[in-house]
Amino acid sequence: MRRDRVLVVEDEDAIRELVAFHLESEGFTVLQAPDGEQGVALARSEEVQLVVLDLMLPKLDGVAVLREIRRQSRVPVIMLTARTEEADRVRGLELGADDYMGKPFSPRELVARVKAVLRRTEPPIDRLSAGGVTLDLTAHRCYVEDREVSLTLTEFGLLQSLMERPGQVLTREVLLEKVWGYDFYGDARTVDVHVRHLREKVEAEPSQPHLVETVRGVGYRFSAR
Ligand code: CA
Repeated sequence: MRRDRVLVVEDEDAIRELVAFHLESEGFTVLQAPDGEQGVALARSEEVQLVVLDLMLPKLDGVAVLREIRRQSRVPVIMLTARTEEADRVRGLELGADDYMGKPFSPRELVARVKAVLRRTEPPIDRLSAGGVTLDLTAHRCYVEDREVSLTLTEFGLLQSLMERPGQVLTREVLLEKVWGYDFYGDARTVDVHVRHLREKVEAEPSQPHLVETVRGVGYRFSAR
C-alpha cells in the first residue's frame, strides 16, 4: 500500500499534533514543523505528497513559506487560516495554494480535504519501475537496465499485472483474467508458456528468474530483490 507523506507546518502544538494524529490514523506518514523556516527546510529535504500549512507562523509566515515551496515544487498545499480577510486568501491562491480551511476546523474534515486534494492532483501513473525494469505504459515500451526490450502485448500485460503488485502472488487464473480477459478459454498452461517467453526477454538468467518468480502451486510474483 502506498503511504502518502504529509508535512504539517503549524506552530500551535495541540493543533499540529491533533492533525498529525488524525492523518496517521488514516495511514498517512506525517512530518511536523513548528515554524515556517523548518517547514521550508523539510519541504525541500523530504519527499512529501502534500503540505498542510498554517498562515500565522513564527519566523516565516504561511504566505512566505508557500512562496518558497512554489519556487521549486508543485506539491499540493492546504492552508489553514484564522484570518478571514479576503486579501490573504487571494494572495495564497495566487501563490498556488490548492485549498483553504478556516480555523477552527474539524480534523476529520481536514483529512477528507487532504484526500480530495490528493485525488485531484495525483498524476496518472504512466510508468512502472522496479528491479531494473521500466514499463512505459503510455508508449507501451519496456526497458531492462535502460536497454529496450520488445515485448508482445501479452507479455507486456503479464509483466504490468505483476509489477503493479510487487511481491504479491497472482494465480494463473487471475493472470488469465487480467491479461486475456474473462471470455478467454485458455488453460493455466497458456500463462506458463508466455511467462517463459517473457523471462527469456527480461531475465538475466531465464532458467533462474529473479524478477518473475514462480511460487509453486500458486502462481507468479514480481520480485525486485
Ligand atoms: Ca499559527
